[in-house]
Amino acid sequence: MLLDDLYRRVIMDHYKNPRNRGTLDHDVITINLNNPTCGDRITLQMQIEDGVIQSAKFDGEGCSISISSASMMTDAVKGKTVKEALEIADRFSKMMQGELQEFEYEDIEALSGVNKFPARIKCATLAWNAMKKGTTNSTSS
Ligand code: ZN
Repeated sequence: MLLDDLYRRVIMDHYKNPRNRGTLDHDVITINLNNPTCGDRITLQMQIEDGVIQSAKFDGEGCSISISSASMMTDAVKGKTVKEALEIADRFSKMMQGELQEFEYEDIEALSGVNKFPARIKCATLAWNAMKKGTTNSTSS
């Protein structure tokens, strides 16, 4: 229970004080994604140069899980290569499937408990799916 409390506190901190919330003003990739089952919607903007995610910002509305996950995701992938970011996303989906308990970013590990609530998994993966979609667009162009 102590651990659950700690995780909840991390999630609420990202929800109330989201990192990287806002919009980018230069040439960027913009992805809009919704999760209709919960009503979450997110706009993710990324600036990718030479295969590196230079900056990432998001805006949107949604439940604490979707917003905190977007906050954590943008923090984790900033400055990473697209390849590294996709590897982090892969491990995140493994964590959502309950195959992985530990995460190299402690804040993201706070979302590990979401795998026990199948209806909320889409909330947690929304921002990651947006990132995957955006990086795929960037490599194909
Ligand atoms: Zn949600």
